[in-house]
Amino acid sequence: MTLTLTVDAQQWRTHLRSFADQVPGLVPVAKGNGYGFGNQRLAEEIARLGIGVLAVGIAEEARDLLDAGWSGDIVILNPWRPADELATALLSEPRVISTISRADDLTAVKAVKADARVQVEVRTSMQRHGVLTGEIPQVELGGLRFEGWSIHLPATGSLAEATKLAQAATAHAPGEVWVSHLSVADYIRFREQFDGQARMRVGTRLWLGAPAALTTTADILDVHPIRRGDQLGYHQVGAPKDGFIVIASGGTAHGIALAAPVPQRTLRQRLVTMATGALDAAGRSLSPFALGGKKRPFAEPPHMHSSMLFVAGPDALVAVGDKVPVTCRMTTTSFDRVVFS
Ligand SMILES: *Cc1c(COP(=O)(O)O)cnc(C)c1O
Repeated sequence: MTLTLTVDAQQWRTHLRSFADQVPGLVPVAKGNGYGFGNQRLAEEIARLGIGVLAVGIAEEARDLLDAGWSGDIVILNPWRPADELATALLSEPRVISTISRADDLTAVKAVKADARVQVEVRTSMQRHGVLTGEIPQVELGGLRFEGWSIHLPATGSLAEATKLAQAATAHAPGEVWVSHLSVADYIRFREQFDGQARMRVGTRLWLGAPAALTTTADILDVHPIRRGDQLGYHQVGAPKDGFIVIASGGTAHGIALAAPVPQRTLRQRLVTMATGALDAAGRSLSPFALGGKKRPFAEPPHMHSSMLFVAGPDALVAVGDKVPVTCRMTTTSFDRVVFS
């Protein structure tokens, strides 16, 4: 009894193919939970698309894909740090391209592997990693195999920012420019400006860009009638009304009900979110499980592998063995099964 992702293989692969066709130089990203599919599955799809390079987040993910038989190149997106032993070992792996985000690290990398394959990341308005424009002159590549510059833009990346940074970087050391988060149209313009010497890393828009091809379902494990005031669950709270307790597969072990923090713009918004959090703690928050066509509240906070839901009224709406739709955040959900149909 499981939480299942069902993929309409033909529809999904048609989308992957058409996206890849629109984005010459596409570098698919396979990291974290593999956007719900698992990184290994994504690597197989990348090979099927005939693309010979992929990007991962961290050294461990690169090692796992190499162990699983990926035979193309792998870019590690998190910047190399001296204390990361695995990332340091992978500097000597011919298929791995490491990201360097501080000019000083280049010296340390050269000491480990004089001809390591590297990209150098430039700091963008994201303010995450990368050398500042003013530090670009300190980037000394020596005998390293330079695989290009990396520009990681905010979610709605700006062509103007990418162009400005890329011009500053390539004036110092010519090479490819790998960007992320430009619209497809902007990326095509960017690539033209740089004579085709550009690539774009994409995860979400590629893997999750055809939502109609993806169905997420939970199995109903149990259904019990309950009377108003009867105690239930770990926390022995009283049922708010007469109705039913429905146990569905899918809980914290799968990442169910882990909401993404909402970007906070104002203090007022923050306070509103805190107030909502208090409601959640009282167990009255809406669950992602739809029963009878509507999302139902949790009867109590979800458990490791299952969730207790509450259905008010005389009809339970579901029976043991039914499969019900569940809305999953794909980057935080571990499915028990991924089924291609
Ligand atoms: C994760 C990541 C991407 C892909 O992000 P999506 O929003 O999933 O497309 C691209 N570039 C870098 C540097 C990343 O870390």
